Amino acid sequence: MSSFGRVLCIITGASKGFGRAIATDMARHVKPKSMFILVARSEDELRNLQSDLARSGMEARSVVLDLSRKGSPEMVVRIAKDACPPDIEHVILFNNAGTLGDVSRLTRTFTSMAEVDSYLSFNVSSAFCLTAGVLQAFPRSSGVRRCVVNVSSLCALKPFPTWGLYCTGKAARDMMFKVLAEEEPDVRVLNYAPGPLNTDMQETIRTKTGDPQLRQQFLDMFEEGELLSVERSCAKLMKLLKEDKYKSGEHIDYYDV
Ligand code: NAP
Repeated sequence: MSSFGRVLCIITGASKGFGRAIATDMARHVKPKSMFILVARSEDELRNLQSDLARSGMEARSVVLDLSRKGSPEMVVRIAKDACPPDIEHVILFNNAGTLGDVSRLTRTFTSMAEVDSYLSFNVSSAFCLTAGVLQAFPRSSGVRRCVVNVSSLCALKPFPTWGLYCTGKAARDMMFKVLAEEEPDVRVLNYAPGPLNTDMQETIRTKTGDPQLRQQFLDMFEEGELLSVERSCAKLMKLLKEDKYKSGEHIDYYDV
């Protein structure tokens, strides 16, 4: 029997990488007929995942949209609410979608407010508004357990040269979830930093990072097979969520546990 129960599980960035791994792993830990809301821009990848989940006894909806567009968090909430089975016991939101932004340039080159706003709009505002929307759609009075996960990074805590946008966005997201944990004691809130994952994002890091030492460091990690598989990091996330002992709002790194 699963410890999560019958779940409404909303995952952003579910089309590939860590988000896809979360969906696949969650399906092993929830009751049959749990509902998965899979959000990303790549329709084919989402539909493939949806079919895989259906084969393991889950319900799933693909929500093909660009989270950087205004109104997209509201649309996800609306679809999740409409699709939610009446006997749901637990709502879990994984704010996983994210981008690096332009990691080739120094912070002093970002003079365009439009460029910075556009980055923060997707990487911070959409997660902020989606989380708020989900908590409003499933208020405390609904009686369902509620959990929100922010897929964070070491970059929320530590500065990396030429990663100004990424570090800023991750730090802001962590703080938003920490504030939320203070305000909503009955909501379980986790900032999980998954470690260096062998995904498409890492390829961008290896090829586009402007700081030569940092770029080399990640190239070495790749060549020496030191990057983590998404499955391995996701297993730790599942353990944390299932044990449910973390302090709400805490930042926990893969290497901490
Ligand atoms: P990834 O392979 O690049 O996947 C990113 C996901 O975000 C994809 O599903 C992508 O789907 C989605 N996405 C991107 N832009 C979107 C948009 N505008 N609207 C909707 N969805 C969008 O990245 P990953 O490595 O799995 O990273 C997942 C999370 O882990 C991110 O938050 C990342 O910051 C964090 N993280 C990664 C690492 C690492 O080493 N990879 C380390 C620490 C933290 P579509 O392209 O289909 O839209």
